[in-house]
Amino acid sequence: MGNDRLLCSEDLYPLSLERFYKVADRLNLDPSIREKLAVVKREVTVNFPVKMDDGRFKVFTGFRVQHDIARGPAKGGIRYHPAVCLEEVRALAMLMTWKCAVVNIPFGGAKGGVKCNPKEMSEGELERLTRRYTSEIIILIGPETDIPAPDMYTDSKVMGWIMDTYSMQKGFSVPGVVTGKPLSIGGSLGRSGATGRGCANCISLAAEHLGMDLKGRTVSIQGFGKVGAEAAKILDEIGCKIIVVGDSRGGIFSQKGIDVADLIRHKKESGSVVGFRDADNISNAEVLEISCDILIPAALENQIWEGNADKIQAKIIAEGANGPTTPKADDILADRGIFVIPDILANAGGVIVSYFEWVQNIQEYFWPEKRINRELQRILTDSFGRVLEISKKEKISMKMAAYCLAVDRVAQATKDRGIYP
Ligand code: NAD
Repeated sequence: MGNDRLLCSEDLYPLSLERFYKVADRLNLDPSIREKLAVVKREVTVNFPVKMDDGRFKVFTGFRVQHDIARGPAKGGIRYHPAVCLEEVRALAMLMTWKCAVVNIPFGGAKGGVKCNPKEMSEGELERLTRRYTSEIIILIGPETDIPAPDMYTDSKVMGWIMDTYSMQKGFSVPGVVTGKPLSIGGSLGRSGATGRGCANCISLAAEHLGMDLKGRTVSIQGFGKVGAEAAKILDEIGCKIIVVGDSRGGIFSQKGIDVADLIRHKKESGSVVGFRDADNISNAEVLEISCDILIPAALENQIWEGNADKIQAKIIAEGANGPTTPKADDILADRGIFVIPDILANAGGVIVSYFEWVQNIQEYFWPEKRINRELQRILTDSFGRVLEISKKEKISMKMAAYCLAVDRVAQATKDRGIYP
């Protein structure tokens, strides 16, 4: 990517702190609460061997970080990626605290990850890696303490292995230890597409606010995985025209619109969106910079930064990914009047339906999909409305408003609990 030279996953934590301090200043946050929320509560690094298919073993490094649990058990995904590092996991854990707070669900924030390249590993190797990593972090996780979920390059199959490993250690089934599991072992209807659906819901709310009819509006999407592909499907169904899609190998462009169902098939068969018929191949930088009405960064962090923020030609940016925009780029986009739906709102659909999954697991009573989608829409509509209200009242961006609301809620919970002992 064009900005790989300048920003990498280690940068996410200092950038997240920079944003937090800005928000803390604006809220005039109590200095001791500021100090507490600027650091993570717990972090565990594990180095563990995994037997590879060739008979040798390889040592992998993994992390689990809990940022804050004032509002409830820690909640956050697990990522398998070669760039995973402690700084990145810390930043993503902090982001989860704000995300759960902004949509007002009773969780704190956590994140996990293993530094590995899942694309070069067999299913057997991934299963052994997952089971061993789960055993290594078992002192932290549990339905009442810390509940993992899928993130980049992890999916319902990986969650199933985590649930099984944890349950084997306990001696009985504990479905509530993870969310995003297969339906057969206590997963929730609607969970697999929830983040993309929530992102599309937020785009509809933004369009309504801006008086924009979504029919025929052009959409560019960076990342065609769980989040990007689902958002594309729903936006296509409501009449938007998907003109650009990018993934780790490059991008494609078609002014007349891309057939989303066909593209999903093509990606499944070939492993990438690149080379799709009736579309031109474009570079990763162009994916973000081609003129469109709605841009959805749904891949990695720090993709929109001061070097390209003034080249973005979208009216709405919906941050499907976690932390796709740097704080400096936030300011540039705000000055240019681009309506940004912040990550902690735009991609909160996943954790909201994870919350429903956890509730269903605890109650051992399962809801129909219609109820799940309705409740998801309700929570997002309320949260979007509350953030918009603050943004208008205080004359600040949606991003600033969302983070102020979230930090304020966590600070209030911290005050109300008091400090032990
Ligand atoms: P995924 O693994 O399903 O898909 C990731 C996509 O990003 C793939 O299409 C991949 O090719 C693409 N990608 C990877 N590197 C890229 C690069 N350098 N340039 C362009 N594209 C690249 O992951 P996902 O679950 O869809 O997650 C995507 C983002 O959304 C991440 O930031 C994740 O933290 C965030 N997120 C995911 C969920 C969820 O429920 N899955 C929830 C909230 C936030």
